[in-house]
Amino acid sequence: MTALLKATDLRREYRVQTGRGPFAAKAVLRAVDGVSFEIEAGRTLGLVGESGCGKSTTGKLALGLIPPTSGTVRHRGVAMPPAGSTAWRELRRKMQMVYQDPLGALDRRLPVGVQIIEPLVIHAALPPNEHRERARTVMAAVGLQPHQFDSYPHELSGGQRQRVVLARALMTEPSLLVCDEPISALDVSIQAQVVNLLLDLQDRLGIAYLFISHDLRVVRQVSHDVAVMYLGRIVEQGEAESLFAQPAHPYTRALVSAIPVTGGGPRRDQLLLQGDPPSPVDVPAGCAFHPRCPFAVAQCRSERPALEVLPDGRQVACHRVHEPALGIAA
Ligand code: SF4
Repeated sequence: MTALLKATDLRREYRVQTGRGPFAAKAVLRAVDGVSFEIEAGRTLGLVGESGCGKSTTGKLALGLIPPTSGTVRHRGVAMPPAGSTAWRELRRKMQMVYQDPLGALDRRLPVGVQIIEPLVIHAALPPNEHRERARTVMAAVGLQPHQFDSYPHELSGGQRQRVVLARALMTEPSLLVCDEPISALDVSIQAQVVNLLLDLQDRLGIAYLFISHDLRVVRQVSHDVAVMYLGRIVEQGEAESLFAQPAHPYTRALVSAIPVTGGGPRRDQLLLQGDPPSPVDVPAGCAFHPRCPFAVAQCRSERPALEVLPDGRQVACHRVHEPALGIAA
């Protein structure tokens, strides 16, 4: 079956200054470094990792919002057209973005109804006399009241504003939503409502999600498959249930073991991460995770591990994944 979205060996590099002044040295920042994944229709791929690991850049590459340095993105087998082209705009109707901060994503000067209709205007997706009716239908689907069509963003709660953002994204009947930290700016009390709404919309409309988050508790709840990123690369990828039940890569183990257990507090078998991730302009040689990995050996400091497919179909990039004594083998 052809994947709804297929990214192959995506790379995105930036030239950055490493010091001050006009003569400062330049370095290459590899924000995304050889990332491949697939998303099937109606399924969710959770993309997780610490801040700065390249998750959001991957999301923008998936939508063609920024061009890759190399690599390809295909939507239903068709290569992503150049950004701004007519073919790209047509494809963008089917792939929408939901950002982290709903207030920042909305224009405070305009009623939310006008902003919900905006994608139909941009894409000329329906006759103008049908816009308002479609907006009311979609607003009802995300739990907004008809009278809120004329409300301004500041008159709504954080959860209602995120529902407005979702309604706007749904107006063109997309098959894929890229959700970039969609609940992290919301109060904890509202987060569950928005997560349940996303799950409900997927059930009813068959939408696929690329769900980007640093919150593994939520990713576990919404994802069918999960990809774990570290310094621009995927270090583990596979079916969510088995990945959370038995994480194979030491970095995934650390992230999963830090998920609070019911009743609060860390798990007893927690694998603590030492320090912060290194700078992406100065990625350690070998396995990029080796300065923080409790299982690192000499090979890890010199050889970069390739993603290897394990018997359960999972992909893991770790030299020691097959050593049962370490308890990291799947
Ligand atoms: Fe740790 Fe080595 Fe595996 Fe990297 S390759 S995760 S340093 S054991």
